[in-house]
Amino acid sequence: MSWCKNVKGVLLDITGVLFESGASEPIKGSIEAIKRLKDSKIPVRFCTNETTKTRQKLLQKLHSIGFSMKEDDVFPPIPACCQILKSRGLRPHLVVNPDALSDFCEINQENPNCVVLGDATDNFSYQNLNKAFQLLMSLETPVLFALGGGKYYKEGSDLILDVGPFAKALEYACDVEAEIVGKPSKSFFGAVLQDLGQPAESVVMIGDDIVNDVGGAQSCGMRGVQVRTGKYRPSDENHPTVKADGYVDNLAHAIDLILQS
Ligand SMILES: [Mg+2]
Repeated sequence: MSWCKNVKGVLLDITGVLFESGASEPIKGSIEAIKRLKDSKIPVRFCTNETTKTRQKLLQKLHSIGFSMKEDDVFPPIPACCQILKSRGLRPHLVVNPDALSDFCEINQENPNCVVLGDATDNFSYQNLNKAFQLLMSLETPVLFALGGGKYYKEGSDLILDVGPFAKALEYACDVEAEIVGKPSKSFFGAVLQDLGQPAESVVMIGDDIVNDVGGAQSCGMRGVQVRTGKYRPSDENHPTVKADGYVDNLAHAIDLILQS
């Protein structure tokens, strides 16, 4: 097994790897696995497409489950998106989860000239999507941001729609291409890698999403490993376009292999 050799840095997905979406306990062995990784001095960052809550609330949830990462080590899409909006002078119309709204409080949203689509869950109503559609159609140069490219994730025993399919609907209707902020975007992974301070070829990304975690990391030159937790499905191991560098039962299994080699 060559994917676990000479690992100098690790990127971890959060939902489906550290805990199952909606659950209030960790996936077995994951707290201890991260501790072992930290004790071995291999740097780790958390690279998530979570946009159903603010980064602060996500961190509180992680801490309440028993994890101890710092806020600066957690990279969700919204802070990255706010930086882009500021630097390009864009004023968003937001279709996002109400629980994530306060992360946009410093962003001017008057007279919007772009649309930002997050994992809005119940806010993905016809009315809200139609409003976003109408705004995009009214702009001379329509700009659409999607906070991550995920198709679905798993909550309890059910697979549920993520932001990706709704972004595709607006892309189709408006003839625009969404700019993805989050996985699998290269610039998003690039920013996390830069913070990690290791070259892509020395880094392993571990996630439960074969396309956005594993495929996205591989496109950036990293190794991509899929856990058999979260949204994992056995058919992922015969995915038509993405072949993971490794498949592991869970995070603890992956970390064991990295630390043993
Ligand atoms: Mg995940």
